[in-house]
Amino acid sequence: MKAICVREFGGPEVLKLEDMPDPRPAQSGQVLIRVKAAGVNPYDTYMRAGGYGARNPALPYTPGSDAAGVVESAGADVDLKAGDRVYTIGTITGAYAELALCRSSQVQALPARVSFSQGAGVFIPYATAYRALFQVARTKPGETVLVHGASGGVGVAAVQFASAAGIKIIGSAGSNEGLELIKTEGAQHTVNHSSPDYQKQILDLTNGRGVDVIVEMLANVNLGHDLKMLAPRGRVVVVGSRGSVEINPRDLMTREGAVLGMVIWDVPDAEAAQIHAALQAGLGNGTLRPVIASELPLASAPEAHRRIMESGARGKIVLIP
Ligand code: NAP
Repeated sequence: MKAICVREFGGPEVLKLEDMPDPRPAQSGQVLIRVKAAGVNPYDTYMRAGGYGARNPALPYTPGSDAAGVVESAGADVDLKAGDRVYTIGTITGAYAELALCRSSQVQALPARVSFSQGAGVFIPYATAYRALFQVARTKPGETVLVHGASGGVGVAAVQFASAAGIKIIGSAGSNEGLELIKTEGAQHTVNHSSPDYQKQILDLTNGRGVDVIVEMLANVNLGHDLKMLAPRGRVVVVGSRGSVEINPRDLMTREGAVLGMVIWDVPDAEAAQIHAALQAGLGNGTLRPVIASELPLASAPEAHRRIMESGARGKIVLIP
C-alpha cells in the first residue's frame, strides 16, 4: 500500500509517500480499514517534529489518528463487517495510508449523512470540543462562551456543540473567510483576533460583564488577556498552547475565576463513553457537521502540515489516499 512514512523527526519534508507492506488482516479484536480520508491535526505536526519526549512514536512510523473509510476485514469477535462505513479514534498503524489497522475500540460507525472527508474531521476536533465545553468547563445553556480560535477544527466543533446546547457564542478568527464560517455555523457574534481592539469589543458585547467560558486555542498568546475578559466565576479551558505566558493572578482572584487544562488522550473511560454517545447523536441528527477546508492527495502531506500551522483556518484539512 501507499502510506506516508516518517523515518526521522523534523520539518514537513520528512513526510514521505512510500510503498509499504499492507498491514496484516484484522485478528481478534481488530479492524482493518480502507482509508478514504485522513484528518490532519496540529498534534500530527508536533509529533512529526519529535516534540513529545517520551510519547514520541518509535521510528519509522505513519502519522495520523483520524481516518474515515470502509471496513476491509474484522476479527471474528468484532461486530463489524466488510464494507461498513467507519471513522477512527486512533489507529495501530497510522491514518495517513491506504489501509489502517485498528483495535475494535478505536472504530465507530460513520452515519450515512456524513461524508468520508467529514468523518476524518470528527474525532480529535469534536471530542476535544465536547470535553472542553461540557466535561471541563461545565458550560450551561444560557451562558456565554468565547471560542477563541473558532475557525479551525476544534473551534468549528465547539461552535456547533454550543449552538445546539443554547449557549451564546462569541467566536474569533483571523480572516474574513474564517469569520463568515463561524457565523454560518452558529456564532451570534464574531471578532477578529488580529484586530487591536478585539478584547474591548468582547467586553462591549457583554455590556462589560465578560464571558462565562473561554475555550482557548492559543493560551501562550492570550491567557493574560483572557482573564480580564472573564465574568465572575468564569472559566478558561486551555485547549492549545505553544509556549509560556505571563498572567496576573489578581485577575482570577477578583472574579473567583479558574484556568483549567485538558488533553484528549487521557480521558477516563466513563467520560470517553459520554463523548462517543454525544458524537454519534450529533453526527446522526445533523447538529455536528465537520467543515472541510481542503482535500489534498496523500502525497501532499508536507503541504498539509505547512498549511495547518498558518493563519486563515476555515475548517479541516484532509488527505485523500
Ligand atoms: P487548527 O484547525 O489549525 O485551528 C487553529 C485555530 O487557532 C484557528 O481557528 C486559528 O484562527 C486560531 N488562532 C490563530 N491565532 C490565534 C490567536 N492569536 N488567538 C486565538 N486563536 C488563534 O487547529 P485545531 O485542530 O482547531 O486545534 C487548535 C489548538 O488546539 C492547537 O494548538 C492544537 O494543538 C490544540 N489541540 C489540543 C487538544 C488537547 O487535547 N488539548 C486537542 C486538539 C487540539 P485563524 O486561522 O482564523 O487565525
